[in-house]
Amino acid sequence: MKIIRTIEELTSITGQLKEANKTIGFVPTMGYLHEGHTTLMDQSKTYADILIVSIFVNPRQFGPNEDFERYPRDEKTDQTIAAEHDVDYLFMPSVDEMYPGNDVVTLHVTDRVDVLCGKSRPNHFDGVATVLTKLFHLTRADYVFFGLKDAQQVAVVKGLVDTFNFPVKIIAVPTVREVDGLAKSSRNVYLSDKERQEAIYLFKALKEAKQLIIDGEKNPVMIKEKVKKYIEHHTNGKIDYVDILTFPSLDTVEKINQQIIIAVAVQFTKARLIDNIIVEPSGTVPYAII
Ligand code: AMP
Repeated sequence: MKIIRTIEELTSITGQLKEANKTIGFVPTMGYLHEGHTTLMDQSKTYADILIVSIFVNPRQFGPNEDFERYPRDEKTDQTIAAEHDVDYLFMPSVDEMYPGNDVVTLHVTDRVDVLCGKSRPNHFDGVATVLTKLFHLTRADYVFFGLKDAQQVAVVKGLVDTFNFPVKIIAVPTVREVDGLAKSSRNVYLSDKERQEAIYLFKALKEAKQLIIDGEKNPVMIKEKVKKYIEHHTNGKIDYVDILTFPSLDTVEKINQQIIIAVAVQFTKARLIDNIIVEPSGTVPYAII
């Protein structure tokens, strides 16, 4: 595995790979790698010849009162984990390398962002779209892998790729969970022991909601209320949102008779957790190339 710190070196390598007709799989991350990330890496190996992973805590997707400074970082362990998962190139640029301060154009996401996390994190997805636009160009990826844990991100990236015709295919990968159901996340380390116990009720609530839909419930208002009550009953977290929307267009649903997402965000003392489940009325949970 080769570690790359500069754009110059990365573009030189990706240029050579393209000349050699290699297909490139790309997994963008913010590091502090866990099984959620490595599952994306392992998937890439089944799609593409070469695997590029980036580790970059992107300041532009953090709001002024968010956790950019204290976002967990562990370069050495990340390098070991990446090597164990046969990463070919690990791109770890500095903030100055990615943003030398010469921007002439700003990206602004106009759809799919006035709901869910976008509502309470203004400009978050502008930052995501900006860094991914740069990384798609630099890596020249044929396939890019995202986790459905961040389903709104998948929906926005799909919009970005469709809008600007990036020649990259998005592969959406199901959420990887702890044995008790908690979605794996770099931020889980900030949960107290008690909160860690409570956090399992996010997914339990989503599963209950899914079952209601499979049993024929079509009224999203009813289901949202039940999910809220369930989470409030079982945790001391503060609910940021519980919502049911179409997926991936993220439109409001009056009556459930199509593929929808049930998504929740709950603020615990030091960690804001998100989770979701994608449901067809028949109960299938689809994914893959979107
Ligand atoms: P992050 O480092 O949090 O920006 O995540 C990098 C990528 O890993 C994103 O596409 C995430 O959706 C994905 N990811 C993070 N946690 C999980 C998980 N538990 N299951 C599946 N994918 C995940």
